[in-house]
Amino acid sequence: MLQLPLARSVVDEAAYLRGEEGLYDRLRADPTTRVALVLRGEVAVDGDRLLLVAPGDLPGLDWGPERVHLLGRDADGTYLSAVLPDRIGEARDLDGAPVAEEAELARLVERTEFATIRRVGHRLGDRDAGLATTAVALSAWHRRSPHCPRCGSLTVVEESGWMRRCPADDEQHFPRTDPAVIVALVDDEDRLLLGRSVHWEEARFSTLAGFVESGESAETAVRREIYEEARVEVTEMSYRGSQPWPFPCSLMLGYRARVTNVQTAQADGEEVAEIRLFTREQIRDEAASGRIRLPGRSSIARSLIEEWYGGVLEEPERD
Ligand SMILES: [Zn+2]
Repeated sequence: MLQLPLARSVVDEAAYLRGEEGLYDRLRADPTTRVALVLRGEVAVDGDRLLLVAPGDLPGLDWGPERVHLLGRDADGTYLSAVLPDRIGEARDLDGAPVAEEAELARLVERTEFATIRRVGHRLGDRDAGLATTAVALSAWHRRSPHCPRCGSLTVVEESGWMRRCPADDEQHFPRTDPAVIVALVDDEDRLLLGRSVHWEEARFSTLAGFVESGESAETAVRREIYEEARVEVTEMSYRGSQPWPFPCSLMLGYRARVTNVQTAQADGEEVAEIRLFTREQIRDEAASGRIRLPGRSSIARSLIEEWYGGVLEEPERD
């Protein structure tokens, strides 16, 4: 199996703690509690580490389960995430002064670097990568799913951020994950087939991917997506591993697959604008020179491509 950048969770999720009465009061008084910060889908970082602060460093934070979520615990202590208000620091009182209880939090935000895990996930250590991915995934779910899908009522957060309950019909809702397949396609000459999305700038190429549809197995989705996007038929496939991709809620299931009729490969024009076959030398040279752009190092696409290549592919520095 592939070792994937965002699939390195090592902290015990400690689900048994989620419903504990008075949990946050207890954890706020515990000197081993650490809190990760999430702002507009990005996590606070300190170089190549996830920034973890003590509860006492967060004056003015609303300590309800709407904003504070339990990530898990290990031998060093318990980890929480705090989802900061999108417009932190912008709240003003009638005199135009920053609202006092938020001001200190806003100053902390000002001197903190926030980054998307798409960009920094691969640079974080195992513990931090897992904590950051869980924190971002939970915050994305709450952001997108405030209402009951059954009746439309505003739901209430419970279980330390891991459940939303509808006050009208008592229905429980849990964090949602949408499976998607992503495939490194290889032809009979061991060349790699990559596609350029219609949404991307000219030179960016990646593996083909798509969501698993209702009633489908992952394998059926691989065959369907690959035929839809590239008009080629998959003859054999092997599962390579999975990682969460919380933008907002995907779980990427990675495959290597063999295709035969590459002569007839054709981009669908709707999702994929262009298809190309690469030898190892071509992908190495074109990536190194910047003629093509590869997917970011935190993505499963990059891992699938480099697994086929047999090593790390170098590219010119970029953000
Ligand atoms: Zn409801």
